[in-house]
Amino acid sequence: MCGLVLRETGLLPHANPGVMTREEIAGLREVTASQGIMLESTSERLCEKGGVHYGSPDKHPAVRLETIRLAGELKVPFTTGILIGIGETREERIEALQAIRDLHEAHGHIQEVIVQNFRAKPDTKRADADEPDLDDLLWTIATARLILGPDMNIQAPPNLSPGVYPRLIGAGLNDWGGISPVTPDHVNPEAPWPAIDELARLSAEMGKLLVNRLAVYPAYARAPDTWLAPEVATQVRRMSDAEGFARDDDWAPGNTEPPPAPRVLAREVDPEIARIVDRATAGQRLDHPEIVRLFAARDADYRHVTGAANALRQAVSGDVVRYVVNRNINYTNICYFRCRFCAFSKGRTHEDLRGAPYDLALEEVARRAVEAWQRGATEVCLQGGIHPDYTGETYAAICRAIKAAVPGMHIHAFSPLEVTQGAATLQKPLSVFPGATEAGRPRHLAGHGGRDPRRRGARHHLPRQDQHRRNGSTCSAPRTGSACARPRPSCTATSRRRSPGRAICWRCATCRSRPAASPSSCRCPSCTWKRRCTARAAPAAGRPSARR
Ligand code: SF4
Repeated sequence: MCGLVLRETGLLPHANPGVMTREEIAGLREVTASQGIMLESTSERLCEKGGVHYGSPDKHPAVRLETIRLAGELKVPFTTGILIGIGETREERIEALQAIRDLHEAHGHIQEVIVQNFRAKPDTKRADADEPDLDDLLWTIATARLILGPDMNIQAPPNLSPGVYPRLIGAGLNDWGGISPVTPDHVNPEAPWPAIDELARLSAEMGKLLVNRLAVYPAYARAPDTWLAPEVATQVRRMSDAEGFARDDDWAPGNTEPPPAPRVLAREVDPEIARIVDRATAGQRLDHPEIVRLFAARDADYRHVTGAANALRQAVSGDVVRYVVNRNINYTNICYFRCRFCAFSKGRTHEDLRGAPYDLALEEVARRAVEAWQRGATEVCLQGGIHPDYTGETYAAICRAIKAAVPGMHIHAFSPLEVTQGAATLQKPLSVFPGATEAGRPRHLAGHGGRDPRRRGARHHLPRQDQHRRNGSTCSAPRTGSACARPRPSCTATSRRRSPGRAICWRCATCRSRPAASPSSCRCPSCTWKRRCTARAAPAAGRPSARR
């Protein structure tokens, strides 16, 4: 059922099927974003005759704690909680919260803890039982916050405590749980869900922003490789924003529709946001945490940031919007990197995808520049894959060919990765490489796919070259790790490369065992080097190369 929901609707299943075995939890993990079971209580008294759990073996605390423990071992983001007012004492509530805390400390998988107040129902055995009052609920929420710490998500169902939302927030609650516009609360059908707009307004009055989350909490959504099965992780990535919350709309850069106006409910701008914006508009350099904070702005903060940006634009550019007529020239789609987001490059594992590999001759590059100039372009944008044969001299030759054909053409080039490669193969510092192209010097550097090797969470997705570069400003040798002036012990480029030879065959054990293997000498059946050399659509006549 969960698989059907996931695949047919795209919704993220959160499963609460009760006590489960290891195999059942593992099976559900493949098709759910999170799972849960209420611990309810750790009081064994309640399982004795006369207690609310008598005759319900699945409600025995040891059984439920074991399910929660197994979920932790299996890395399942998990929801649990306690039910108050069922005959337990306050000491027993504290014991239950401590048991949850201990499991979370062991496995880190408890994404939220629900504090649910018992509501008496007509026609049940406890129809006449006392319900916990508001003070009891507030005491328990506050106690949960103290025991579980500031990072735990604590929830109390809002439909069970209408009219007192600010007091619940004041006691330590930070989540309202699932609120359905479609289905009632099946356990408490007499208690309707609140209107989300009303909840947002009341939360804003308490200085809180109501933010739409997924069935998996942000901390787990941001680490999908650890906490989610691959199929679920893909869907979570689609549905979540950069912070791991739910995307509120489908807008993305490149859409022709204008972005929807953000909802603004907060009365005041966060003083920290106001301080950062003031620093930025005063021309001061922001540090990394400040920039991250600006990107996370929501509600009134978002309006403040975008308003300041627009004012700055107005001051700098007025009402003038500029553009340039240009042409992209992508001289090769052969690339020995394997960036996971790339839909352009050709490599060993996808030579038969998206057309044939190509490597344009200099004459063709120049012809395209001439053609662009004749059609009114004043700029060419140069970017390509990181071809294993390219050196700094190759990039310089491309620029010279364009300048020779169209002296007035503005050259926008190269990507940071290409500059790094060019500088390293010429054994020049990064700072002088663009100048090394002399007459053909590009006037602007190009961006490259938004990769940011400084972002900690993305590091393991990056190619080795970026990891190498991260080791410090002295690390500038991408393809020949041994050329690095000061290799660090953690450097993956230097440690994997046995010699300053070609970069293409180093994965092959045969080639790793001998220095500077060449295409002609390589006999490995898995070698892609030779195939790439013969697969070029047009031979690069006169092209300088790094071939040894
Ligand atoms: S370096 Fe550029 S061309 Fe090569 S795989 Fe990465 S994004 Fe694609």
